[in-house]
Amino acid sequence: MNRLAGLLAAAFAFFGMAPAAASEAVDLLVRHAAIVDVASGTVTADRAIAVRGDRILAVGADAAIAARYSAARIVDASGAFAMPGLWDMHVHFGGGDTLVAENRALIPIYLAYGITTVRDCAGDLPQEVLRWRDETAAGTLLGPRIFTSGPKLEGLHPIWHGTIEVDSPAAVDAALDRLQAMRVDFIKITDNTLRPEIFLYAAQAAHRRGLRVSAHTPYALTIEAAARAGLSAVEHLDYMIKAGSPREAEIAADYAAGRLTYAQAGARLRESFDPAYAAASYRRLAALGIAVTPTLNMTRIIAWLNEEDHSHDEGLALIGPGLRATYDWRVGRAAHWTPEEVASRRRDYQLSLRILPMLRDAGIPILAGTDAGYLNSFNYPGQGLHDELARYVEAGLTPAQALRTATITGPDFMGVAAHYGALAAGRTADIVLLDANPLADIAATRRIRTVVTRGRVLDRAALDSILAEARAVASR
Ligand SMILES: [Zn+2]
Repeated sequence: MNRLAGLLAAAFAFFGMAPAAASEAVDLLVRHAAIVDVASGTVTADRAIAVRGDRILAVGADAAIAARYSAARIVDASGAFAMPGLWDMHVHFGGGDTLVAENRALIPIYLAYGITTVRDCAGDLPQEVLRWRDETAAGTLLGPRIFTSGPKLEGLHPIWHGTIEVDSPAAVDAALDRLQAMRVDFIKITDNTLRPEIFLYAAQAAHRRGLRVSAHTPYALTIEAAARAGLSAVEHLDYMIKAGSPREAEIAADYAAGRLTYAQAGARLRESFDPAYAAASYRRLAALGIAVTPTLNMTRIIAWLNEEDHSHDEGLALIGPGLRATYDWRVGRAAHWTPEEVASRRRDYQLSLRILPMLRDAGIPILAGTDAGYLNSFNYPGQGLHDELARYVEAGLTPAQALRTATITGPDFMGVAAHYGALAAGRTADIVLLDANPLADIAATRRIRTVVTRGRVLDRAALDSILAEARAVASR
């Protein structure tokens, strides 16, 4: 190398540039996108994203990136807003062995709605979900990244199928051994028949093993007691009504002693909810590191279940007849509600709308999650997350705050924040291109032009064919 060439090479290296002639090959360039930075709530116009394999290699001004990289596949994102792929932190797969194929058919639907990661919170097909997790990771099944709890922990003879029943510390230890051998991503606990002291033991034991714990918290315990034991996330915002009552401990003790039924305890907790007490209680829970998955849209759907007609819902045509039949359970129960029950459920929804911004103000991480899958009537895989985000904005979150619950808090919770949550060098190439700005109107998340999942491009035609295939399978 002569002296001049050497100096030039050194200068290019120093300024981080490469000569135009030596443009570097990548797999994908997304050009002329307006990039939504969810963390700061800002948009930067005319950017390009260079992707190699399943990772983002570089992001920058379009002209600079285009000069530096060349790609076989170029997506022109002129007029589009690019944001990180969405996360649904509470889904289910289940409904029994006869519904394995219908559940598997749900998986690509999530991608068609821009959801590139889901967290499965247990059902009755745990072995299948573990297999689908590995297949989507290997690329042999088209779908989002799946995190799963595997089978959840319960007490003896619960209403739920597919659980691990535990009634002693030794049984909990054995169950956690089994779950770790399955390489589950977190632990799910529900309390249909689980004894409160076993719940506390399970939360402590899982926490000691470094596992995250999501749960339905027993009425006999305060949320703070569960948090101190090692609970990581409260599933369903209704449990935060309980944490907002100054009488929580006393009502919990009365319920534990059999002096109150579940319904009576619930009514007293709601009646005694106190906003000032709740704000302080939520700050204490935030300091203990508790996150909350609100599933607010589920509360909304249920509260109006007795009178709303869902027969023409777009999402209904995408799921199979067996899954649709699991919806009948709740619909049948709603038909028998008294006017008082209907009024109480609607008050609960209104109270939940008030609580959500209080959680935000207390600094509790909010994990966007739907409860979609089976049993939970008209709460659809894919579409449900967009409905959930709309509820958050209805409750008073800004669109940017709502987007964070579906892009940043989930990766934080799962311990993979460095790989997701932003369109930046080194992050996973999960990208959603929208036709409108979601920071201006959260409904823009529904206007999906293209989804990139781990570097693989699904344009609108590909997304529509996923939906057409789902409709065809569902109508067979
Ligand atoms: Zn659930």
